Amino acid sequence: MSGSDRSPRLSPQEAARLLRQRLEMGGGELYLDGMTREEALEQVSRAKGEGTQQRSAQAQTGPSTRVTGKSSAALPVVLPDDYAELREVALACTRCGLASGRTQVVFSDGPPTARLMLVGEAPGANEDASGVPFVGMSGQFLDLLLATVELSRKDSVYIANVLKCRPPGNRDPQPEEIEACSPFLLRQIDLVKPRAILAVGSFSARLLTGRDGVALGKLRGAVHTYHGVPLVVTYHPAALLRNRRWIRSFWDDLQLLRSVIDGDHA
Ligand code: SF4
Repeated sequence: MSGSDRSPRLSPQEAARLLRQRLEMGGGELYLDGMTREEALEQVSRAKGEGTQQRSAQAQTGPSTRVTGKSSAALPVVLPDDYAELREVALACTRCGLASGRTQVVFSDGPPTARLMLVGEAPGANEDASGVPFVGMSGQFLDLLLATVELSRKDSVYIANVLKCRPPGNRDPQPEEIEACSPFLLRQIDLVKPRAILAVGSFSARLLTGRDGVALGKLRGAVHTYHGVPLVVTYHPAALLRNRRWIRSFWDDLQLLRSVIDGDHA
């Protein structure tokens, strides 16, 4: 983009609103690959002018048919910097095929001011029905295990998943679904600013450590970092219910996490 045709700069909130309006109006999608954040905002700002022209044309000819092309999963998004707006965008999201089978989007549970952020994999049937992550047996088990290291889920843990919608039959998340959905999670982490992160299960562990394809057992037992935030990796509570011998390892990981939160870990 040349410097001579720069449009007035938008805030991220304005940009997100404009993108939503553009899609609702059936406007062509914007491709922001490879751009810096500032360049992306400028691109949206330019689209504002196109949108004004389009609205005027629609007033004369009626609504246009939405232009489709590249799959929405591959589209980069400019996500809001405001927590409530981010949640609103996620609740209406149709960026991947899981949207068609969900009962509801499972965005999070717990206070966004929490010290600890727990990151799981994807909603199951109970979560899809309730809209809350980690309910049912594995959720109750998790609450119990957190309590053993004096962490109250209700007061001090914010929970989110890599995927916000339930994969059919509780199958593993697919790479394109993770690509489409993970920007929501990463923005949640940016906004919550936890003191520590606990990634449970291999999908969240690999995503946040950036160690794709590495076995979970090789990632646990150490303190990693995600954008400067200490990150501990462990088994998914549902896996513990199937493999009771991992419970001791999980508890060891919780002790490590506790020492990180308390600032005792060197
Ligand atoms: S899983 Fe994520 S990306 Fe896919 S539709 Fe749900 S919220 Fe959107």
